[in-house]
Amino acid sequence: MRLVLLGPPGAGKGTQAQRLVAKHGLVQLSTGEMLRAAGEAGTAVGLLAKEMMARGELVPDDVVVAIVSERIDKPDARNGFILDGFPRTVPQAHALDRMLKEKGLTLDAVIELKVDEGVLLKRIKKRIAEMMARREALREDDDPEVLRRRLVTYRDQTAPLVAYYQLQSVLRSVDGMVAIPEVSSAIDQALRQAVNKKPRAKMSRPAARKPKTGAVKPAKSMKAKAKTAKRGRGAGTPRPSARRKSSPRRRLTKRR
Ligand code: AMP
Repeated sequence: MRLVLLGPPGAGKGTQAQRLVAKHGLVQLSTGEMLRAAGEAGTAVGLLAKEMMARGELVPDDVVVAIVSERIDKPDARNGFILDGFPRTVPQAHALDRMLKEKGLTLDAVIELKVDEGVLLKRIKKRIAEMMARREALREDDDPEVLRRRLVTYRDQTAPLVAYYQLQSVLRSVDGMVAIPEVSSAIDQALRQAVNKKPRAKMSRPAARKPKTGAVKPAKSMKAKAKTAKRGRGAGTPRPSARRKSSPRRRLTKRR
């Protein structure tokens, strides 16, 4: 199965991706995680990405597309994957379409987690406060102001993907504001529908025999048909009507 999880930051994409990984044996391809790893590795691209991520901006499309394309080719992704945080722009979605086509793959579904931005902001502020109280390490972009910017970026650049995937008939929208188990079962149901809707491979049927070119037989005349029928019966075979007349029962009746 190959899926895309779509939704603003804090909508629960990560939680659902992890659950689907455990349930279906897929790999989670989180572009955010990949970019953070590149930042830690200190590569030139990673350091640039780190700065942009800290500001709540999107990393350039070509950088992300190259990372995803390389990752999809790894053997562990052969059984299927969940794209978490990618695509985030329409050009990224086009690039994904192209890259899947080249690799002979298709998407089974794009799951959109629909959430209310106001509630989301409150939810994330609460989560940050709780993490700080537990003295847990925060992400650089775990900051209310950065989050506000990320939500604006989502609305401007990522939300148009809803219409994009609707047109491709792969979009499944799920209410992301309900309790996690309810979101999970709504996603499972959406996935069942998506898999059932997918056209199955056509059964191979023997091809109808075509007449050879130039050897098209003309339609038989009634006379010719009658001749063939007579020949088929053989000289000694009586016609059905004749057969009825000479049945033993009739002969007996006649004799009487
Ligand atoms: P995430 O972990 O998905 O919330 O992503 C964290 C940050 O990584 C985002 O705010 C962006 O700066 C960057 N990022 C992740 N995925 C993408 C992407 N597909 N395109 C551009 N930037 C991305």
